[in-house]
Amino acid sequence: MFLDRDGTVIVHIPYLHTPEQVELIAGAKAALENARAAGFSLYLFTNQSGVGRGMFGLDAVHAVNQRMMELLGASSDSNFFAGVCIAPEAPDAPIVYRKPSPRYILETCKADRLDPELCWMIGDSPSDWEAGIAAGINVAAVGCTDEEPLENRRLREQKGVHGHPDLAAAVRAIVGFSTAS
Ligand SMILES: [Mg+2]
Repeated sequence: MFLDRDGTVIVHIPYLHTPEQVELIAGAKAALENARAAGFSLYLFTNQSGVGRGMFGLDAVHAVNQRMMELLGASSDSNFFAGVCIAPEAPDAPIVYRKPSPRYILETCKADRLDPELCWMIGDSPSDWEAGIAAGINVAAVGCTDEEPLENRRLREQKGVHGHPDLAAAVRAIVGFSTAS
């Protein structure tokens, strides 16, 4: 399970870069525990263009991730995430891992021998969905409430990406789906 960070696991604040700003999205902790209990490995896959724009450094991203781990009750569990990809490129810089590039997902599936048919990309942004689609894995959208921008909803519908209000709902649907099949 590949997880976007901002707006998916923690509350989205533009260019969030201090640990004090970190707040888990309600239900995220239990959702990730349930996903792991169902046998999913978790991979964090986050675009952090604030690094490429010179607004903050990678050390700030690590500090935010560390705070997120504390709030997830996982700071002493080095296996909580099977992998972490921080894509620091600014949008106008040559893309290395920045979503919508599927590169991290493709490399990870190969390295960790994951079956793409059993993998999911979960995120709140079109770039998350596009990365998952380009990698040929399943995609779930979160943050799909009445306030979802119309253009996002149209894109999801066009791409056949199912939307959920939050990570907890997405994981419930995915875990139910995977145990039923
Ligand atoms: Mg996001």
